[in-house]
Amino acid sequence: MPEGDTVYRATAQLHAALAGQVLTSADLRVPAHATADLTGRRVLEVVPHGKHLLTRIEGGLTLHTHLRMDGRWALYRAGERWTGGPAFQIRAVLGTEHHTAVGYRLPVVELLRTADEQRAVGHLGPDLLGPDWDAAEARRRLAERPERPLGEALLDQRNLAGIGNVYANELCFLAGVTPWTPVGALPGLDRLLARAHQVLDANKLRHGHVTTGDTRPGRQHWVYGRARRPCTRCGTTLRAATHAEDRPATWCPHCQRGPTP
Ligand SMILES: [Zn+2]
Repeated sequence: MPEGDTVYRATAQLHAALAGQVLTSADLRVPAHATADLTGRRVLEVVPHGKHLLTRIEGGLTLHTHLRMDGRWALYRAGERWTGGPAFQIRAVLGTEHHTAVGYRLPVVELLRTADEQRAVGHLGPDLLGPDWDAAEARRRLAERPERPLGEALLDQRNLAGIGNVYANELCFLAGVTPWTPVGALPGLDRLLARAHQVLDANKLRHGHVTTGDTRPGRQHWVYGRARRPCTRCGTTLRAATHAEDRPATWCPHCQRGPTP
């Protein structure tokens, strides 16, 4: 599951290559839109919304795509060989004079009227990397279910949009509580939201999801991916389990208080 900052970066690259350019080829390989002809239309902009990508196209159209588990948009120069996977995994192709964007393994490829974008993304909570990030609204949504485990609540894009499992684990560590801690029992929800915004913003234009401030391989995270290794902060062996429908959870039994499985 990509984190919001990954989608943000992919979107920025697509925007830089496609915005303002006329589509010379366009191919949506999903039954509902296989016959849609977008060639000759100009791409206006590509914007992220949480983990959703919105490609706005002249004539009031928006191509809505989502990466889910392992989808990705790859960008190639015109004439360059496509290397993102076998042809049957290609769901969308948008070509301009200089670039071709190829969408591999996209579970969502939907062409809709730009005026109807809310249908696709209206259910999402405030976007951590959006121009209108609204921490108070995210707090209000989280507080609606105070009994819910924090890790799971952070992953629910209806509360706030952009957090995947790396950040869900890391933010629990930074807050000093386990992922199973009820949202309502967390003393510093505002501080946690400010931190979420800060770490995603810091990572939005680089590879990786650095939460420690240390960009060296193996040192980028406090707990995520470090099960059974010593806690960087206190040396205690990190523990591992699953949370939120079988996603990996790693925590430090010394630095993080709260319930565990
Ligand atoms: Zn520790």
